[in-house]
Amino acid sequence: MRWEGNRESDNVEDRRSDGGGGGGGFRFGGIHLGIGGVLIVLIGSWLFGVNPMTVFSLLNGDSTSAPASQDQSVSQPAQAPPTNDPLANFVRTVLASTEDVWGAILQQAGRTYERPHLVLFRGAIETGCGGGESAMGPFYCPQDRRVYIDLGFYETLRNRLGSPGDAAQAYVIAHEIGHHVQKLMGISDKVEAMRAQQSRVQANATSVRVELQADCYAGVWAFHSQEQNHWFEKNDIPLVLNAASHIGDDALQKMSQARVMPESFTHGTSAQRVSWFERGYASGRVDDCDTFDAATL
Ligand SMILES: [Zn+2]
Repeated sequence: MRWEGNRESDNVEDRRSDGGGGGGGFRFGGIHLGIGGVLIVLIGSWLFGVNPMTVFSLLNGDSTSAPASQDQSVSQPAQAPPTNDPLANFVRTVLASTEDVWGAILQQAGRTYERPHLVLFRGAIETGCGGGESAMGPFYCPQDRRVYIDLGFYETLRNRLGSPGDAAQAYVIAHEIGHHVQKLMGISDKVEAMRAQQSRVQANATSVRVELQADCYAGVWAFHSQEQNHWFEKNDIPLVLNAASHIGDDALQKMSQARVMPESFTHGTSAQRVSWFERGYASGRVDDCDTFDAATL
């Protein structure tokens, strides 16, 4: 992806020095975990299915439990990150592109795009939705309208989830921004009201529609950002599709346990995630992302 030299957003909050981080692994419930533990934690929080906070995530942290308060007293002191490292510049650049693309799309629809903040953090962070953790993967908090990313996730994406490439990294941001667009369009609030009335299995099915729509919106963004910046090269979109195929619920469940349990899906299968991104990317039209109306996902 040729991203250097494009506009960088001012809406990135770098809170990586705030503490709560530690080492190269993640903290969860006071237990220090290496990278290998991350997926187990993700799957674990998903199966327990308690729902004290609403967040929308790229992985299966969606609408699942925020870990209970963790023991900060045993945290390692966070090492101050460089303020202008290339990865942070990359995030600022992609965020700026989402601002340009969604600003134009919403303006055409007679609406205003409120630019969200994106928070870089390490380890653990307080959010408007409660305590956030690296182990949850990147997520969007509708209460404070912020996207939260621990950049260590990109290592997980590359090394544990077999999804290299900066285009894949951009997709992660675009997916979370997709949730912000859902919030602005009133979709998130409608969905939350709906889920509150639903059985667990039904609520999971609703969650799948929310997540696939965010993938489709990521495709819409990719379409328009390519028109504006011509930055995706030949192998970039295949790398996005590769990433989407590695973070489907079926793929993640296969990685962490022997059985695949469709009723517990909250984000959709790999094939569905790929197909909805492709759909958005093919036309660049928001109207093609109505996962709630689709008879077949
Ligand atoms: Zn999501």
